Amino acid sequence: MGKKYNIAVIPGDGIGPEITAAAIEVLQAAATRKGIEIITKELKAGGDAIDTFGIPLPQETIDSAKASDAVLLGAVGGPKWDNVEPDIRPERAILGLRAGLGLYANIRPAIVFDELKDASPLKNPGRIDFIIVRELTGGIYFGKNGTYQSGDRLPDGTVKGKVAFDTESYSEGEINRILKIAFELAMKRRKKVTLVDKANVLVSSRMWRSLAGQMSLEYPEVEFESLYVDNAAMQLIGRPSSFDVIVTSNLFGDILSDEAGQIAGSIGMLPSASLGANGMPGLFEPIHGSAPDIVGQDKANPLATILSAAMMMRTLGEDELSADIENAVKKTLAGGFRTSDITFCNEGENIKSVGTKEITKAVIDNL
Ligand code: NAD
Repeated sequence: MGKKYNIAVIPGDGIGPEITAAAIEVLQAAATRKGIEIITKELKAGGDAIDTFGIPLPQETIDSAKASDAVLLGAVGGPKWDNVEPDIRPERAILGLRAGLGLYANIRPAIVFDELKDASPLKNPGRIDFIIVRELTGGIYFGKNGTYQSGDRLPDGTVKGKVAFDTESYSEGEINRILKIAFELAMKRRKKVTLVDKANVLVSSRMWRSLAGQMSLEYPEVEFESLYVDNAAMQLIGRPSSFDVIVTSNLFGDILSDEAGQIAGSIGMLPSASLGANGMPGLFEPIHGSAPDIVGQDKANPLATILSAAMMMRTLGEDELSADIENAVKKTLAGGFRTSDITFCNEGENIKSVGTKEITKAVIDNL
């Protein structure tokens, strides 16, 4: 008897159902070849859940997601739900899933496939293949915040006009657990970790730097460097091929991972993972949204979701299955297959402009 995995699938809204269906089709085909059984359970979240239950994240979705080995998500949101109350907006489902599954590490690879080397807006970027590990549940987005009215006395005794504040705060435990994920990941890759902080100004950053320095001693094979975030923003553009694993706080990671996505080029190509305390069940999803402008037209690029499924299987320990899927994607690109978002790449070669279904079939044929 081969291995068996229970995968919760949340198609969501917009192109979500099209791209998750494509990813599951590829995953099933690849798993069958390896004698692995994939059992899927479809769950509702986002606008899809609002339409059925009146809320973006039903308890049943959280419970079933928790009971699964991993969760594959399409995307949520769209203009249909733009005017609902903030508390029941589709996007709340993502925050609720992160909280419900205790997901504290967001992992975003930035890869430019050789076959899509024109996708990067950088001139001669070299080989781009790095991962940003972003802390997801601490820092300034979750710290104490508030406002003082004009004339209020502030804690330091002064009185100013109206004041608003947010606080960056991290515990040793929160920092160490995300650093560990970064160092372990680096051990499986090119063995380099870059910590991004603002240790010349922020006290919390100095703790990040000190803890990362200590942890680096436990990984003597891993090359370790620290960069101030302003410098890191420059170096990502200046020498993107020199990075392997970048680890950073919630705020800096939010900004740098979007910068990295742009450096890598097409939004329809990039997968992501969010991991929790025991690693699983993690949440795997493309970095793009629900693309309401192309829904139902067979135009969506499913490759980011297919690569998210590959990332999911690698995190579950199925390295070979994951590599099979990634290689099939590379072969498909090398064969000239392009959805409309990436037709501009490597123009002039033997390019076949195709839709969601045809490129999915090509990936399966290339397994
Ligand atoms: P988007 O990523 O959905 O779309 C931006 C542009 O990229 C659009 O032109 C779209 O057609 C194109 N695009 C995106 N994915 C594509 C793909 N796979 N193939 C081909 N083209 C693709 O971002 P947006 O337009 O800002 O947001 C649309 C909706 O998605 C909003 O409701 C937003 O809140 C939601 N959203 C959800 C998530 C998520 O579920 N994690 C993330 C971002 C945005």
